[in-house]
Amino acid sequence: PPFAAGTTARAVVDLAAVTHNVRALRGHAPTAAVMAVVKADGYGHGMLPVARAALAGGASWLGVATAEEALALRAGLRDVDVPLLVWLLAPGAPFAALVAADVDVTVAAPWSVDEVAAGARAAGRPARVHVKVDTGLSRNGVAPAALPDVARRLADLEAAGTVQVVGLMSHLAAADEPGHPSVDRQATAFAAATDVLHEAGLRPSVRHLANSAATLTRPDLHLDLVRPGISVYGFSPGPLLGTPGDFGLRPAMTLQARLAQVKDVPAGEGVSYGHLYTTPRDTRVGLVPLGYGDGIPRHASGGTAGPGGPVAVGSGDAARVLRVVGRVCMDQMVLDLGPDAVEREGDVVTLFGASDGVADGATVPNAQDWADAAGTISYEIVTRLGARVPRVHV
Ligand code: PLP
Repeated sequence: PPFAAGTTARAVVDLAAVTHNVRALRGHAPTAAVMAVVKADGYGHGMLPVARAALAGGASWLGVATAEEALALRAGLRDVDVPLLVWLLAPGAPFAALVAADVDVTVAAPWSVDEVAAGARAAGRPARVHVKVDTGLSRNGVAPAALPDVARRLADLEAAGTVQVVGLMSHLAAADEPGHPSVDRQATAFAAATDVLHEAGLRPSVRHLANSAATLTRPDLHLDLVRPGISVYGFSPGPLLGTPGDFGLRPAMTLQARLAQVKDVPAGEGVSYGHLYTTPRDTRVGLVPLGYGDGIPRHASGGTAGPGGPVAVGSGDAARVLRVVGRVCMDQMVLDLGPDAVEREGDVVTLFGASDGVADGATVPNAQDWADAAGTISYEIVTRLGARVPRVHV
């Protein structure tokens, strides 16, 4: 859509792409339910609109990290009957409110058994629990050594009607690296954890392990439900695994800005803080009104470690992808448009959009290209996009 009056930068989020991606993921995992992961404001895309678009594509669960996210999601989806799961809770989390809001909670550490039980009693209804076991990520999750005791305590609470253990889950450390040996080790540990729950008399009906990478590449790990996140937004979970197009995914977000200034600069001038870049000839520079205050990584500066972040400028015969020159500042960054540039102030430039990225010859970069320029992953590029950038859902 055209830039609205008063808008100088925006992230357009194509909700049809989200719906399409979830449909594609259902095709990749036809025997499993799909939980769309919408934490961190839907990886920066807008939690509620993305959640609805994912449900339209056939997701039948939604997952988030924090209690605040879960409660906001339930409040925003009052008209929808969908199970929600939250998995990163610290002591003091609002368990009673979560149970009252019919949010499935996670027991990921021994301490939480008592807090879940207290929350269920306060809410006056059984808590629906997923046990999150650490199968080798060494992050959050019940350690295997602690699992028998946790399972016994949960079995007692289930017998008393205080909790209902509906799920067993774990998270993979390196499914984005083809052939990484940890994946099979974690699958084995997950099977052992299942046995531990069974021995305690627990029969979780929803077992889940797969993130995007495993959803797309390890059908043997789909189990009852898959939990894709980044692929819902149209990105490959790992450039080594393939491009979005390889998996039938479409990046949903397009980040654009209007050039705030275009001006002539003579040869030999330093550009932006620290003068990391010196104009090699008389040229014209263009000012993009986005910077690290908007979540653009400063590591995507151009002129020291490597090329800066890519930006598509111009249209028709003048269309090209340029690299940021000099430092990315808090609010702005600079392009060297070249001596013959025809761009004008107010012209729209695109930092990234729905494409497989410049590595595949596209004329519009994608967030993976920005990740490459900044030494990070596409997840961080889209998720850290700042609140200052309006999201336009189409
Ligand atoms: N499941 C859990 C527990 C997560 O923490 C995450 C995100 O980090 C996901 C699933 C989704 O992972 P991805 O975005 O790699 O698909």
